[in-house]
Amino acid sequence: MDNLRLWHKFLQTIRSEISPANFKTYFLKTLLKSVGDDKITLSVPSAFIVETLDRDYKKLIEDIFEKLLGKKPTVEFVVKEFEQVPEENREDFFQAPQSSTTSSLNPKYTLENFVVGLSNNVAYAAAQAVVQNPGISYNPLFFYGGTGVGKTHLMVGIGNAILTKKPHLKIIYCSSEKFTNDYVAAIQTRKMGEFRAKYRATGLLLVDDVQFFSGRDQTQEEFFHTFNELTTKNSQIVLTSDRPPNEMPKLEDRLKSRFQGGLMVDIQPPGIDTRVAILKAKCAERGESLPEECLNLIASSVETNARELEGTLIRILQTLKTQNLPPTEEVIRSYLGQKPITPLSLNHKQVLSGLCEYFNIKMSDLTGPKRVKELVLPRHLAMHILSEELNLTVERIGEILGGRDHTTVMHGRDKIKHLITTDREMQRIMIEVKQTLSTPQT
Ligand code: ADP
Ligand code: MG
Repeated sequence: MDNLRLWHKFLQTIRSEISPANFKTYFLKTLLKSVGDDKITLSVPSAFIVETLDRDYKKLIEDIFEKLLGKKPTVEFVVKEFEQVPEENREDFFQAPQSSTTSSLNPKYTLENFVVGLSNNVAYAAAQAVVQNPGISYNPLFFYGGTGVGKTHLMVGIGNAILTKKPHLKIIYCSSEKFTNDYVAAIQTRKMGEFRAKYRATGLLLVDDVQFFSGRDQTQEEFFHTFNELTTKNSQIVLTSDRPPNEMPKLEDRLKSRFQGGLMVDIQPPGIDTRVAILKAKCAERGESLPEECLNLIASSVETNARELEGTLIRILQTLKTQNLPPTEEVIRSYLGQKPITPLSLNHKQVLSGLCEYFNIKMSDLTGPKRVKELVLPRHLAMHILSEELNLTVERIGEILGGRDHTTVMHGRDKIKHLITTDREMQRIMIEVKQTLSTPQT
């Protein structure tokens, strides 16, 4: 059993033996630092917690490790060290010339402000382990999970933490699309040398949403070589995806097995306690606060993921401010009770004609064979809406769109799904399209 699994098992056991509040306070941000022959060291966020653990929990902790390991270790606690860098210097790193980071790391996403709960504690522990021993503990580290659960946050958090420790390390953070685009551009401009020099010289490579490598054979080939070169040099690689590698269609086997060769950890949607904690953290970041009842109300009404939770919170805070309303349960309840703008009880014909109206194109073009740029986005949107809102199968959607292959439909659907979460322009278009669809067409 490796340390991470051991720690995960430990957390599961102790969680069933102590109260949730104590578990949260004393164990969620505690990490397994090392496992020696007969000594186990835990790294603990504060001296206060060390004191309590040592006084009240030491025996229980040792007993649990005894059960898991078959012999009783001595447990010792140390306070987690943070290599703090003065604030002004930190700023410099983030604004460092683009040579060190492709698209520079968003300083908003750190490990410190990542709220740890049961849905993500293994992922968080893995992130910490990688920060402590980049390139050695788990290479690659592969996070997967649904949209908005914190994959990007955690990955960029790793980058920021390593950057703080090693300000001069070359770090690249990019989406799989950016990697693809760079690669294609390098071929076209005959600058493969530069491309390789850039991606293969990095000390830490963070690639977001690798599911978009699916079906791009040449890019996969290039990424495979990049991957090999980096891991040979013990450069850490962190990847995220909306699904595990074995569920990625059209991913080359050798790349699949590389992805599976490190540590794969899933991140689940946050449970109610974590959602409340996330809301608190996001309020605090904005210098705002809401009463506990209001936070509970919001957390119980938005169950999907942290991104939606945050979005809802921001809209609520804005509404309270602009309409000068008090933060009461009643006000929040009435806000949350408002109908969403998209009550879609449409059939597929209405969706298509709504899209034609919005984009001002002909139905015969939308469903026809023409391969022109203006038709790509409307078609992709059609694929997305028919799949997500009308729950049609990809095969059926292919038929509706004039006999397109189901893999084309999957590609279009996923593309939009991704863009909606990352691209403001796409969010705007989607809202407008849905408004068009929800106003009766004449
Ligand atoms: P993903 O990449 O999985 O789609 P993100 O990392 O972009 O999700 O997270 C979406 C938003 O939710 C971000 O603003 C992020 O800061 C926030 N978020 C997600 N999980 C957490 C968490 N555990 N603690 C704090 N914020 C979180
Ligand atoms: Mg993401």
